[in-house]
Amino acid sequence: MCTTCGCSGDGATLHTHHADDGHDDALTLTPDVRHVSIEQDILSRNDHIAAHNRHDLAHAGVFALNLMSSPGAGKTTLLVKTIEQLAGRLPVAVIEGDQQTSRDAERIRATGAPALQINTGKGCHLDARMVQEALPRLPLQRGGLLMIENVGNLVCPAAFDLGEAHKVVIFSVTEGEDKPLKYPDMFRAADLVLLNKCDLLPYLEFDADLAEANAQRVHPGVRVMRVSATSGEGLDEWLAWLKSHAELCAQSHDHSHEHLHGHHPHGTHA
Ligand code: MG
Repeated sequence: MCTTCGCSGDGATLHTHHADDGHDDALTLTPDVRHVSIEQDILSRNDHIAAHNRHDLAHAGVFALNLMSSPGAGKTTLLVKTIEQLAGRLPVAVIEGDQQTSRDAERIRATGAPALQINTGKGCHLDARMVQEALPRLPLQRGGLLMIENVGNLVCPAAFDLGEAHKVVIFSVTEGEDKPLKYPDMFRAADLVLLNKCDLLPYLEFDADLAEANAQRVHPGVRVMRVSATSGEGLDEWLAWLKSHAELCAQSHDHSHEHLHGHHPHGTHA
């Protein structure tokens, strides 16, 4: 159950794509929160698993981000562009969260990056357990990135820690400048706001300065970058941010050269 909207998160399905023969395996996650009725219990259980994920990722030297937005803000397009720009410099693995279909994971795999699709069914967000089950199925590399694209939703994902290093909100200029005021929990939870589709600003009445001011109002000091996944503007700042954080993440645990899951020294096919 989601503590925010009360929906059931049971019955999530995790799809594993086999590069060898091209087929997909679907694994339905067993419901384990059916009898938990108190919000605090759900969140504390989620936070406990998220802490394990965070520990495993830090130990493996993998910099993980939780990307959140409303549907249609351009998360997948931004990811595809980011992976293309980082090709040969920084390995990227992706977890895709959507209620249905493997479309986004297929778009990511078309870039050559490994991607694993989680279908949440009626669920409106990813949770830490879904990510925990996904991690051993992805070939994660020290110094690399793990991008977790959450279900398109500015409400529920804000409450569920996945074990990421940072939450990133993608907010597009085709939305209203007041999104941060309407969904303050999401913008407070985020360490970085990407104002996307800025190539469209000449054609819209959207006031980017006002949008930034609104983000600052609910989260003073939050970093905002103006980008366009389509035109590529602003992506240098985003890519530099990713590279510097990935380097720090790898260095801070450089004493250990163990892989995320010792029994899979080369990762697993995803
Ligand atoms: Mg998407």
